[in-house]
Order: sequence, then structure tokens, then C-alpha cells
Amino acid sequence: MMTRRQFLKLAEVAALMPWGCAQWRVGLPGVLLNDVHSGLNPTTVRGVSPVRSSEDIQRVVGRAVRDRTGISVAGGRHAMGAQQFGSDTLHLDMRSFNRVLNFDSGSGLIEVEAGIQWPELIEATLKLQQGAQQPWGIIQKQTGADRLSIGGGLSANIHGRGLRLKPFVGDIKSFTLVLADGKAVTCSRLQNADLFKLTIGGYDLFGVVSSVTLRLMQRQKLQRVVELVNIDDVMQRFEQRIAEGFLYGDCQFALNPASEDFLSRGIFSCYKPVDPTTPIPARQREISEEQWLRLLYLAHADKTKAFEV
Ligand SMILES: Cc1cc2nc3c(=O)[nH]c(=O)nc-3n(C[C@H](O)[C@H](O)[C@H](O)COP(=O)(O)OP(=O)(O)OC[C@H]3O[C@@H](n4cnc5c(N)ncnc54)[C@H](O)[C@@H]3O)c2cc1C
Repeated sequence: MMTRRQFLKLAEVAALMPWGCAQWRVGLPGVLLNDVHSGLNPTTVRGVSPVRSSEDIQRVVGRAVRDRTGISVAGGRHAMGAQQFGSDTLHLDMRSFNRVLNFDSGSGLIEVEAGIQWPELIEATLKLQQGAQQPWGIIQKQTGADRLSIGGGLSANIHGRGLRLKPFVGDIKSFTLVLADGKAVTCSRLQNADLFKLTIGGYDLFGVVSSVTLRLMQRQKLQRVVELVNIDDVMQRFEQRIAEGFLYGDCQFALNPASEDFLSRGIFSCYKPVDPTTPIPARQREISEEQWLRLLYLAHADKTKAFEV
């Protein structure tokens, strides 16, 4: 078995490789890309165009039409099914297309470029509202990773841990879509409603999302309540938590196939709103970097221990 030291060394080396070995030029013409998470999808594209404006997208779409070739689009490159790449395509790299375009502190609407990722969006909303009495914040995001783009989230119609929330479509007011003829159109429930429905959850099949207007919600303080549950009780526990006013939650099951708890016992965590003046308990622990690394190591090397920690 790999030792903890060997594992961490390997993780260190992997972290230094940009985008999980992406963009290694190989003997073949083109650029080799891969997804960040699994690294199981090496794909050689014809070229990579970093996007910084809507016009950049339109230029590449025009070139693809002239060259009679396809395009592919990626934000965070986290999807593990290779849908963000395509062999011999002109590839749009959305990562630098990441500004906040508009923010309305009255309605809580924020318009962003589609390549913006959650950490940048959250940081921007905090900066824009310094000193605000009732600041706005995001409604939901994916839970297993942070550096995912809003365009990628829209394309997959992602969901967070909301117990009663609709998926991401519920948070999207409108977006701008660049179509195959290079035209940029606004899509909402009232304008180009068919494209609105098709594009959200339609991956990149209907055009390139250029900007997105999102609804925010008033930020609230949440308290996490954690317990161990058996799978037979979990749906009933969710119903109870919802009735008690909990807003978010999930259940992480034991993952060691050798354990008798395998997929039958889980850590059930739910979050309920509390008064903003509620103090953070003095004994509240924040997980340190060292503890995260230990958890990461155990998740691969000793799943039972990882569950118990
Ligand atoms: C560790 C991990 C945890 C996850 N957790 C969750 C979760 O809790 N809930 C959930 O719902 N999903 C989850 N996912 C899935 C993830 O949300 C989707 O794969 C998401 O699309 C990834 O976003 P991305 O920015 O990395 O997109 P990419 O991987 O770059 O692209 C994904 C798709 O979106 C398209 N796309 C990206 N940007 C645009 C654009 N501007 N215009 C048009 N199309 C575009 C791509 O072409 C591709 O088809 C998880 C994935 C991982 C790896």
C-alpha cells in the first residue's frame, strides 16, 4: 500500500501540473487537453482560444464556420465525461472571461461573465457589499468542488444541497447566448424561452453562454447539526428536518466496501437558519490544512478511518 508520505508527494506533483496535465503539446498537431478531476479524458483540440470578450467568442464561431470545423467550450474543466472537449475542435477557454458586469443591491441580481468561478463570484459579492446591513449571497453551488464556472453550472443545471430548492435553473434570470451564426441573443423565461429551456442543462449543444444574470438571496447565518443515520431512516429524517425549517443538508455514506456499514450508515448533516446574533460556539473547530490532507489521504488509503475521523 502507498504510504501517506508517498501519496502526498504524488498529490504535490499533480498539483503542479497545470489543469491535470492539460495543454501538453504532443507530437500531433493541436493541443492536448484533459479534465481536471479524473484526468481520464485526454483530447487533442485544433487550438485553444482564451476568451476575454463576447466578440472573442463570435470570432471563433465565425472561424469554425469558415473552416467547417466544430468548437468546444470549457469553464472549470471539471466535468468527467469529456463533454467540454472535442477532437480537432477550436476550443474556447472561458477561464479569463470572469468579470462581474452588473450588480443591483436592491433586487439582488448580479450579471457575470460565464467563465467566472464560485470563489471569484463570492469574493466579488462580499467586496461589493462591504458594510451592507442585509447583504446578498449565492443561493447554492455544487458541494464537491469550488473552482467550477457559472457557464459550466448552467450547462449542467447543477444543484447544491438545498433541501427544497430547484436546481440552478431556479437561480438564473437570464443569459446571453452566442449562436452558431455568431449572433448574441438574450434568453430568459420571456425572451427566446425555448433556448432558455434547452441551454440550461443542455451542455454546450445550443450555443456558447457569454454572460449570466443570477438571483442572489439575503445572506443568513446557518447552524450545522450532525448525526449518524441508517439508510432506512434517512428519507424520514430529511422530511423531519425540512419540517423543522432546515434549508440545506446531505448524507455521506460509509464508503469502505469491506465494512458492514458500507452504504448503509451515513453522516447526516443539515443546516438551519439562526438569528444573526447567534455566537459561534467557542469550541467550534476549523479544519486545518494538515487535517484536510489527512482526510484526503485516508479517503484513498483507509476509508473506514476517514468516515470515523
Ligand atoms: C468533484 C466534483 C463535484 C461535483 N459536485 C456536483 C454537485 O454537487 N452538484 C452538481 O450538480 N454537479 C456536481 N458536479 C458536476 C459539475 O457541476 C459539472 O460537471 C459542471 O458542469 C462543471 O463545471 P465546469 O465549469 O468545470 O464545466 P466544464 O467541465 O468546463 O464544462 C462542463 C460542460 O459545460 C459546458 N460549458 C462550460 N462553459 C460553457 C459556456 N460558457 N457556454 C456553454 N457551455 C459551457 C462544456 O462545454 C461542458 O459541456 C461535480 C463535479 C465534480 C468534478
